[in-house]
Amino acid sequence: MSAEKTIPATLIPGDGIGPEITESVTEILAAVGAPFDWDNQLAGMAAVDATGNPLPPQTIASIHRTGLALKGPLTTPVGGGFKSINVTLRQEFGLFANLRPTHTIVPGGRFDKIDLVLVRENLEGYYAAMESYIPVGDDPHGIATGAGYNSRAECNRIVRFAFEYAVKNNRKKVTLVHKANILKLLTGLFLEEGRKVAKEYEGRVECNERIVDACAMQLVIDPWQFDVIVTTNLFGDILSDLTAGLVGGLGLAPGANIGEKAAVFEAVHGSAPDIAGKNVANPLALLMAANMMLKHVGRADLATRIESAIQSVITEGTVRTRDLGGTAGTRELTAALKQKLV
Ligand code: NAD
Repeated sequence: MSAEKTIPATLIPGDGIGPEITESVTEILAAVGAPFDWDNQLAGMAAVDATGNPLPPQTIASIHRTGLALKGPLTTPVGGGFKSINVTLRQEFGLFANLRPTHTIVPGGRFDKIDLVLVRENLEGYYAAMESYIPVGDDPHGIATGAGYNSRAECNRIVRFAFEYAVKNNRKKVTLVHKANILKLLTGLFLEEGRKVAKEYEGRVECNERIVDACAMQLVIDPWQFDVIVTTNLFGDILSDLTAGLVGGLGLAPGANIGEKAAVFEAVHGSAPDIAGKNVANPLALLMAANMMLKHVGRADLATRIESAIQSVITEGTVRTRDLGGTAGTRELTAALKQKLV
C-alpha cells in the first residue's frame, strides 16, 4: 500500500464458521489494498470461553474508538441469562438502520436480475420485547402478552434514511411497508411520518405504500417492481429473509447496521456450527458486507473491483461452494477470487 491513510476498524471473527470466512474476507481485502487497520476483538462464544462475557468491555471500547466494525456470525449462548449480543450492540451504538441489499449474482435462478434494498428499523417496534404472562386458573403462563412501540422521531429518522439512501445511490422509488389497517397506531404513526418525509422528496424520489402481507406476496410474484423498501422492525426482519431467499439464500446476503456512533457490517447468516471447521463455508455474504463497508468509508472503487471478481468467478461457475451447487472449499474460492482481482 502507498502512503494512503489507514482507517481503524474493529474485526470480530466470531464463532463457528466465523474465523474461516473472516480470514477469507480479510485476505481478499488485503489483496485489493483496502485501507483498514484491524483491531481484532472477541464476541460470542469465543468471548464467553475467554472472558465469561459474550460481549466484553474491550470489544465495546474498540467499536467506540473505531466507529466501524466487521463482524463474523456469533453463536447465541443458550441459557445463562445472556442478553442478545446483537440487541446489545444496536442499543449501545444506536444502530437504528439495518440495510439489506439484495442483488442477483448467480444467474439463471428462479428470480433473475433482482436489485432491491430493504431498510429495516432496528431499535423499536415489537423488538422492544415488553413481554409478560397472565395466569389463567392453575396455569401461570395461561396468557402471554407482548407490547411494542414506535416513536414519531424514529419513524421519521428511518424513512428519511431510506430516502437519503435512494438519493445517494440513484434509486428511484421508496416503498413504505406497514400494517396501518390493523395496527392503526403502532404502524399508523410510521405511515404518517413516512408520507410526511416522502413529500420533501417529491419530484426526486417516487414513493408508494404496501401493506406488509400484500408486500410479501408481491415480492414473490413481481420483485422487480421494488427498489428501496422501508419498514418497521419485525416486518423488516421477516421480509429481509424473504428477499435473501429470492437470490439464493443466506450465503449471499450481506447486511449493515448503521447508527449515530458506529456502523457494523455482517453476513445475515449465523455461525453454521454444522459445517464449522470443514472448509466448506461460503464467505461471499461476509465479503459483500465488507464491500458495503468499503462504500461506507468512500472506497466504492475497491468494492467495485471485488464485486467484479465475485461476478466473474460465480458466472464461470467452476469454483462455487456447496451451498451454491459446487464442490469448492472456502480456501479454493478465496484463491479464485484473489486471482480475478484486477
Ligand atoms: P445459520 O445461518 O448459522 O445456519 C443455517 C443453515 O445455513 C445451516 O445449514 C448452515 O450450514 C447454512 N449456512 C449458513 N451460513 C452459511 C455459509 N456462509 N455457507 C454455507 N452454508 C451456510 O443459522 P442457525 O443454525 O439457525 O444458527 C446458528 C447459530 O448462529 C445460532 O447460535 C444463532 O443464534 C446464531 N445466529 C447468529 C447471527 C448473527 O450473528 N448475525 C445470525 C443468525 C443466527
